[in-house]
Amino acid sequence: MWKTWIFCIVLGALIVAAAAYQVSRSRSFQLFGEIVAWVETDQKVIALTFDDGPTAAHTAATLQMLRDAEATATFFLVGQSIDAQQSETRAIINAGHEIGNHSWSHPRLMLMSRSRIKSEIERTDTAIRDAGYTGPIPFRPPFGKKLVMLPLYLASENRPTIMWDMEPDGHADLANDPDAYAAHVIETARPGSILLMHTMFSTNQTARDALPAILTGLQNNGYEFVTVSALLDLATAP
Ligand SMILES: [Zn+2]
Repeated sequence: MWKTWIFCIVLGALIVAAAAYQVSRSRSFQLFGEIVAWVETDQKVIALTFDDGPTAAHTAATLQMLRDAEATATFFLVGQSIDAQQSETRAIINAGHEIGNHSWSHPRLMLMSRSRIKSEIERTDTAIRDAGYTGPIPFRPPFGKKLVMLPLYLASENRPTIMWDMEPDGHADLANDPDAYAAHVIETARPGSILLMHTMFSTNQTARDALPAILTGLQNNGYEFVTVSALLDLATAP
C-alpha cells in the first residue's frame, strides 16, 4: 500500500514539475500579466528583434545591414554589455532603433527573488537611459524564461513580457545554411510577427549571412519593419 502512495506522490511531483517547466518556457502563456509573442493585425508589419550584446565585434555590421535596407529594429540589450560597450550602444541609439531591456547579467530569472529580479531590470533601465536613450523600453526575459516572480513583478509595473513567434536559431537544420535560414523566415512570417535573431553574437555567422536576404525578401513580400512598441500600438483591438 505505501508503495502505491509513494508512487502517487512521485508521479504528482513529476507532473507539477513538468507543468512548471512548460509554463516557464511557453511563448504565449504565463501566470500573471501580459505576454506578447506576436500581434494580431491586418497590416503587413514585422518587428525585428536582436537579443544579447551589444558586442564590439558584430554591432556595426548588424547596424549597416539594417541601414542598407532602411529597416528599424528593437535591440534587447544586456545591462552589463551596455556598460562595457558604450560606443556600440550609442551607435544603436543614434541609428534610431528601439532599445529593449534583457536584464543586467542574462541570468535565468525564473527562480529568483523579487528583489534580485527588480535589481536586474531597473539597473538595466538606468544604463539604457544613461546612454541617452529616451524612447519606450520593452522587456524580454533572458532565455525567454519566466515562472511566477518575474511575471508578478512585471504585472505590478504594467510591463508586458515580449517573446517572439519566429526563432530560426531554434532549427538545427538551418544552423549552417544562410539561404535556408532566410527562406524559412520569409516563408513563415505573418502580419504582426516578432522575429528573434542574435546577429551580434559571435557564433551566429549564419544569422549575419542571412540577414540581408531576410530584409529584402520580406520587403519584396510587402512587409514593413516596425519597433516592438510600434507593433503593440498596431494591434487590432479585440
Ligand atoms: Zn538573450
